[in-house]
Amino acid sequence: MTQFWKAAAPGSRFPVNVELIAETVSASRFPSDRIKAIKGGAIPDFDGALYPIDDPRNGWAIIYNKTDVSLERQRFTIAHEFGHYLAHRHLLPNGVECDEKVVTQRSGKGIEKEADEFAASLLMPFDDFKARIPADAKPSLDDLGAAAEHYGVSLTATALRWLEYTERRAVFMVSRDGGARWAKSSEPAFKSGRFFRTVRETYMLPEASCAVNGNFDDMGRASATHPPGVWFPEETEEFCICSKKHDLTLTILHLPKSFRWLGPAEPVEPDTFDRFMSGGR
Ligand SMILES: [Zn+2]
Repeated sequence: MTQFWKAAAPGSRFPVNVELIAETVSASRFPSDRIKAIKGGAIPDFDGALYPIDDPRNGWAIIYNKTDVSLERQRFTIAHEFGHYLAHRHLLPNGVECDEKVVTQRSGKGIEKEADEFAASLLMPFDDFKARIPADAKPSLDDLGAAAEHYGVSLTATALRWLEYTERRAVFMVSRDGGARWAKSSEPAFKSGRFFRTVRETYMLPEASCAVNGNFDDMGRASATHPPGVWFPEETEEFCICSKKHDLTLTILHLPKSFRWLGPAEPVEPDTFDRFMSGGR
């Protein structure tokens, strides 16, 4: 993967120029069925698509939604479709249309999961990310925000990428009106029973949480260290940012590093476990 950006954009690694890389790599490696167009527009039902131009032998087009979608999310979508092109186009003679949830929450399975993983590695390679935020570091929202800017991706995409390798116990949550829309735990957090069920039920955030009753500053940020019993039966550090534009609150929970594993308080539901193992929860 890293050879792609090296070949396509020497000297200017980040933010990765996704469109240039997709066009350059496809033209140099697969000239007979290269990517001929990458176009944004108003697409009502999905975030991105990869289509053959009449026939796969004529080349391919990447289409992405631009309406109410940030430039950062558009870049992730293009990278996701480029992943489909590289790995799956022979399986998809009629192309593929990709759901918004799959791309923003990285909750897809099979080829969707593969395309998401490709996009994340192209835009935010682990070697660079770990040099910025080491695996044992406890980043604030500012640290993750700086990484998001460096990579030209959304704060959500950045947090999800960091959760993939952090050695710390941490949880990322997206909520609205005090109810969790979805959440994802780092593996160490999940293994110590620190995760939320958000698929079949709505988890209501604690009244004492910053996300619900925080003292938000002018930047829409709030943080606090909560005693055991607020979020979990142990002390929890909470950082959150409220986006009025999107009517969403993003929360990062940091749990203490030292923790004696006593097993989950309740059995893990199969759907939660399956989703965790598939990379999205
Ligand atoms: Zn897809």
